[in-house]
Amino acid sequence: MTLYIVATPIGNLEDITLRAINTLKQVDLIAAEDTRHSGLLLQHLAIKAKLFALHDHNEQEKSQLLIEKLKSGLSIALISDAGTPLINDPGYHLVKACRENNINVVPIPGACAAIAALSASGLPSDKFSYEGFLPAKTKARQDYLTTLLDEPRTMIFYESTHRLLDTLQDMQTIWGSDKQIVLAKELTKTWETIVNFSILDLINWLQEDSNRQKGEFVLIVEGNNKTADAIDPKAINTLKLLLKELP
Ligand code: SAM
Repeated sequence: MTLYIVATPIGNLEDITLRAINTLKQVDLIAAEDTRHSGLLLQHLAIKAKLFALHDHNEQEKSQLLIEKLKSGLSIALISDAGTPLINDPGYHLVKACRENNINVVPIPGACAAIAALSASGLPSDKFSYEGFLPAKTKARQDYLTTLLDEPRTMIFYESTHRLLDTLQDMQTIWGSDKQIVLAKELTKTWETIVNFSILDLINWLQEDSNRQKGEFVLIVEGNNKTADAIDPKAINTLKLLLKELP
């Protein structure tokens, strides 16, 4: 009675661990976001397994069924279409329910687009904030970006082809043109591209060739470290002196 959280590749099929393959071979059931998509991966790995559909829309309802199966002694692996389950993919409700029911949950780590992009970005990686996808509508997106104005940590966003330019334009509106961004595109795939620009230069680079706007993207954005640096120590001293003079 164990639930395994198994990471699968984000493009290059060689990015699967031996432990992931062995686990997928051994479990009684594989819960997958898209059974057809995962079927192809399993076929490539020559794994014959029973698949069970668990996606965002049915997760809460289906989790209970999976809990019953786990309680009856079955072992189950959870996989998503790409990368690490639960990272902008289904699985949260199931894992929460397992922990509440004292069911063993074992992670089988592997690929994750956010971490792969961060590791190659050259931006500070000691502290970072994973932001996932921004809201789809402009107003909500701009409002959210405003809350991140003073975020000092490196920020990681996922973005889709059709919203990439809108998102960057909103970032420029809210954060200005100069912030440094690393765009990591099609990681581990044939057209993998990792470029770093200011927001403005990145927008221009993407607009120069519409092919550059196609694919899967991670945006890594520098944090705001300017607030602390921007305050001149002399100004702080002057303020302290003035404060002393105040009644
Ligand atoms: N669970 C996945 C993970 O561990 O990274 C993320 C799933 S999320 C639904 C899909 C998004 O992840 C894509 O829209 C893209 O932003 C990002 N992504 C996934 N694979 C990628 C890749 N090979 N290169 C760049 N970004 C990728």
